[in-house]
Amino acid sequence: MSVSGKKETNDPPLREAAEALLAVALPPAIAAPTADDLLHELRVHQIELEMQNEALRQAQLALEVSRDRYVDLYEFAPVAYLTLTSDGIITEINLTGVTLLGRERNKLLNKSLRTFVIADAQDRWVRHLMGVKKQDEKSSVELALQRGDGSVFHALLDCVRSESRIRVSLTDITQRKLAEEELRIAAVAFACQNGMVITDPQGVILRVNPAFTHFTGYSAEEAIGRTPAMLHSGRQGPMFYQQMWATLKMKGYWQGEIWNKRKDGQIYAEMLSITAIVNPDHRITHYVGSFTDITENKEADAEIHRLAYYDPLTKLPNRRLLQDRLQQAIAATTRSGLHGAMFFIDLDHFKALNDSRGHDIGDLLLVDVAQRLREVVRERDTVARQGGDEFVVLMEELGTSAREAAVLAEHLGDKLHAALTAPFNLNGYEYHCKTSIGVGLFHAHDTVEDLFKHADLALYQAKNSGRDKLRFFDPAMQVTLDQRSALEAELHHVITRKQLRFFYQPQVDAARRVIGVEALLRWQHPQRGLVAPDVFIPLAEDTGLILPIGNWALETACAQIKTWESGALTGSLQIAVNVSARQFRQADFVAQIQRILADSDANPARLKLELTESLVLDEIKDTIAKMLAIKQLGVLISMDDFGTGYSSLSYLAQLPLDQLKLDKSFVRNLPGVNKDETLARAIITMGLGLNLNVIAEGVETEQQREFLDAHGCHEYQGYLFSRPLPLVEFEAFLQSV
Ligand code: C2E
Ligand code: MG
Ligand code: MG
Repeated sequence: MSVSGKKETNDPPLREAAEALLAVALPPAIAAPTADDLLHELRVHQIELEMQNEALRQAQLALEVSRDRYVDLYEFAPVAYLTLTSDGIITEINLTGVTLLGRERNKLLNKSLRTFVIADAQDRWVRHLMGVKKQDEKSSVELALQRGDGSVFHALLDCVRSESRIRVSLTDITQRKLAEEELRIAAVAFACQNGMVITDPQGVILRVNPAFTHFTGYSAEEAIGRTPAMLHSGRQGPMFYQQMWATLKMKGYWQGEIWNKRKDGQIYAEMLSITAIVNPDHRITHYVGSFTDITENKEADAEIHRLAYYDPLTKLPNRRLLQDRLQQAIAATTRSGLHGAMFFIDLDHFKALNDSRGHDIGDLLLVDVAQRLREVVRERDTVARQGGDEFVVLMEELGTSAREAAVLAEHLGDKLHAALTAPFNLNGYEYHCKTSIGVGLFHAHDTVEDLFKHADLALYQAKNSGRDKLRFFDPAMQVTLDQRSALEAELHHVITRKQLRFFYQPQVDAARRVIGVEALLRWQHPQRGLVAPDVFIPLAEDTGLILPIGNWALETACAQIKTWESGALTGSLQIAVNVSARQFRQADFVAQIQRILADSDANPARLKLELTESLVLDEIKDTIAKMLAIKQLGVLISMDDFGTGYSSLSYLAQLPLDQLKLDKSFVRNLPGVNKDETLARAIITMGLGLNLNVIAEGVETEQQREFLDAHGCHEYQGYLFSRPLPLVEFEAFLQSV
C-alpha cells in the first residue's frame, strides 16, 4: 500500500508530512522510487504496525475488564448459581452459593447437592431432579438446606436443563418463609375462639372473625365499616370510654370488663383487650380487639359474692357486708353532717327454742324476723344478720344533732321492737318472741370497731336489765364491759375456789313464824367482796356456767335440808331454790334432782323450786311434763316473780304449781296506788281460786303486810322480817324469834 494509494490515515500530521515529502522529492518527470521513498514506505508501515498493536492491546484490556466484570457478576450475584451434572453433582458454584452453604468450595465441588438437603426433603429433591432432566422449561422447588455449621435455611431452587448440565439458581427464602409462617399463625389466631375486631386508627371496623359474629350476632358484612359503638349497652357512661381511649393512646393497651349488647338486644359481659398496632414511625395503624364472653363467669361471680356477703338463710347481708356498709355510712355522715344509728337486736331465749323445737323451727323464726325487720325499715337502711339470733339494723340520716338522732332512734327502735312482739306462727306453733335491742349512735370520725363495741355493749345492758328492752350506749357502759369480761374469767373458777355462798331469807306465816327460807346466791369475791346474783347470774346464763352453779345450789340446799332435819327449829323448814331457764331446759334436769336427793338423803318435801313465768311459758308442754315429773319426786314448785310475765290464766290453770309468789313490784306500792292494789288483789284471788298457796315477796312495811293479809295472802318474805342472811346469822335469827 502506498501513500499515493490514498491510504487515509487518522493521523493528519503524518499524512501531511508524507505528501510534503513526495512533492519535494519526486520531480514530475521521474517515476522510479528513490531510496528515500522506500525508507519512507518502511516508516509508514512501521507506524501502521504500531497502531495495530496498540488497538490489539486496547481490545485485550477491554476483554480483561469485561472478564473481571463477568466473574464479579457471577461470583457475587445476589443469588447462588450452581451447575450440576444430570445426576446432581456440583461442578460449579459461585461465591454466593459457597457463602450460603457455609462450606469451602472444594468441599462442595464434585459433591451431590442432595447431601446438603435435609433428610426429610431429599426424596423430593431427587424426584424434582428427574423431572428437570426430562423437560426444557425452568422448574422450581423449595427445599430446606443445611449449612456447614448444621444450621438450616430455606431455599428456592430454580432449575433448568442446559444440554447435559443443569443450571440452578438458589435463593435464600428463610425470611419470606418466617413471614409466611407468622401470617399463617396470625390467620389461625384470628379464627380462634376469642371474638376479634380489627379497626383503623379512627375505630372503623376493617375485619372481624367468626367468633365475633358468634358472640355479637353481627355478620362480618354488618360490622365492617361501622365502629364498635354499635355494641354499646349503655351500661358504661361516656367517662368509661374516655378513660379507655386515654389509656389506649398512652399505653397502647387496654384491658377490662365491659357490658355490650348483642344484635338481638341481649346484654352480655365481655373481657376485652385492645392493642394498638404501631408502624416504625410510631404511628398507630390499627387497633386489634380481642374478647371473650364472660357473662357466665359474671353470674358465677355474683353467686360467689352472694355467698360471701349474704346470709343464705335470711338472704340478709352478713357481718362482712354490714361492716362495709357501716364504713360507707360513717363516711357519708362525715359528708352530710347527719347522725346515724346502729341497732343490735337479739332474740331472747332463741337457743331454748332451737333446742326444744328443733333447728327447722328456729330457722323459720329467723326468716320471719328478717322479713318483719325489713318491713319496718326504709329502703336505704340496712338489715343484716350478724349470725345466730343477732340482727343488726343500720339507719342513716337521722338528724343533725345527737339529741335529735337519739329521739328518732328510740322511736325507730320501739318500732323494731313492736314488729317482733306479735306472735310468730312457726309451722302452726305460736311463738312469742322477746327481743333485746342495743343502740349505738354514730357520727363522723367514729370507727367501725368502736361502733360494734358500743352497740354490743348497749345490747348487753339491755339483756342485763331484764331483757325485752331497748338500751342506748353510753360511755359508762364501757366500764361495765371491762368489768364484765374480768368477772367472766373469774366466774369459771367460782366453784373450785369455793366462793359461792347461800344467804337465807326467811319466809314467815301470818303469825310471823318462820316456815321456810329462800336460798339466795352470793359470790364471795376475794377483792370485790359480796357480788350480788343480779351481776353474775346473767353472766353465768350467757356462758353456760349456770349449769354447774345451779347444780351447786341444788346440792347445797339438799345438804342443808339434811343438816337441818333433826333440828327443833329447822326440822320443818322448807328451802326454796331458784332455777334458771337454761338449767331447767336440760334434758336430764329431773334425773339430776333425783340423784341429788338420793345422794343427800334429803326429804323432797322440804325442797321447793322457784321457776319464773317466762321459763314456764316458753315451752309449755315440755315444761308441764317436767313439772309433773318433779312433783312425782315429792318436790314443790313455786312460781316466782308472778305477775311480771303477763301469763294468761288458761296457761296458769294448766300448770302443776304449789305456790304463787307475788312479785315485789306489786307489793312496793301497797297500799295506796290504786292500780297496784287492784292487781295484787286479783293475783291473790286467782291463786287462791286455783287452790294455790300465795306468798308475797318484798314485804318491807307493816302496812303492806296488813293489806296482803286482809286480802287473803298470809305468807310473806321481805326486809320487814329479815334480809337474806348468811347461814350462821340466819340460825341465830331463828333462835331470837
Ligand atoms: P328473786 O328470786 O326474785 O329473789 C328475791 C330477791 O328480792 C332477792 O334479791 C332478795 O334479796 C330481794 N328481796 C327480798 N326481800 C326484799 C325486800 O323487802 N325489798 C327488796 N327491795 N328486795 C327484797 P337477790 O338476792 O339480789 O337475788 C336477785 C335474783 O337473783 C333473784 O330474784 C333470783 O332471780 C336470782 N337468784 C338468786 N339466787 C339464785 C340462784 O341460786 N339461782 C338462780 N338461777 N337465780 C338466783
Ligand atoms: Mg326467787
Ligand atoms: Mg322473786
